Amino acid sequence: MLTVDELERYDRQIMLREIGEAGQEKLKRASVFIAGIGGLGSPAAIYLTVAGIGRIRLVDHDRVDRSNLNRQVLHWDNDIGRSKVKSATEKLKRLNPEVEIEAIEQTITEANLAELLTGFDLIVDAMDNLPTRYLLNKAALDNNIPFFHGAIYGFEGRAMTIIPHKTACLRCVYRGVIPEEKFPVIGVTPAVIGCIQATEVIKYIVGIGELLTNKLLNYDALNMEFTEFNVKKDPHCEHCSHMKTTG
Ligand SMILES: [Zn+2]
Repeated sequence: MLTVDELERYDRQIMLREIGEAGQEKLKRASVFIAGIGGLGSPAAIYLTVAGIGRIRLVDHDRVDRSNLNRQVLHWDNDIGRSKVKSATEKLKRLNPEVEIEAIEQTITEANLAELLTGFDLIVDAMDNLPTRYLLNKAALDNNIPFFHGAIYGFEGRAMTIIPHKTACLRCVYRGVIPEEKFPVIGVTPAVIGCIQATEVIKYIVGIGELLTNKLLNYDALNMEFTEFNVKKDPHCEHCSHMKTTG
């Protein structure tokens, strides 16, 4: 049941016939795991918080650096040196006290990931490195948790939604290892992609619209072009090929 305050807070989105009170209650019951609270994680977390997701867990081991501030909008100048999850949680709680925000200051590893994910319905991939994305993809498949991928580089971004056992996974699309390096980025790029990830999460939870499944969306900000590439489940994919396919 929604409270009087919630009915007022979410009034404009409850007005949407696709959402309504029933959709808002689904959002309230949902729990979302956000891996990384930087350039992509900040906008994704902000919009999921204001939309009224019931429970959000933020996991990031990093501390705020001055060079993060051009894009990681949940962290402000006076947060430099502080834990990113603490800095983000503080702002998100002020933005919407109805949402339960959990901060976990840890590095995501193969050893701790299953436990970190326990009790969560969806995963937002807001990481900045491919090895951790692969871990998340595998864990999403193993635990049957929908996985919302986003990535950026410079003026370009990508997004894709993965429904375990049904659609192509991240590993079907990406191969190999990209060396970890300092990469260029302007803040508006992760803002767009993080919001696309949050939009996909909301649609999935409420059960509306078409998802970015079996499709990789490429966003080219310089030419302001959105291009969709069809992707297929790879029958030899080392992450998902051994799993039973349904639907
Ligand atoms: Zn796969």
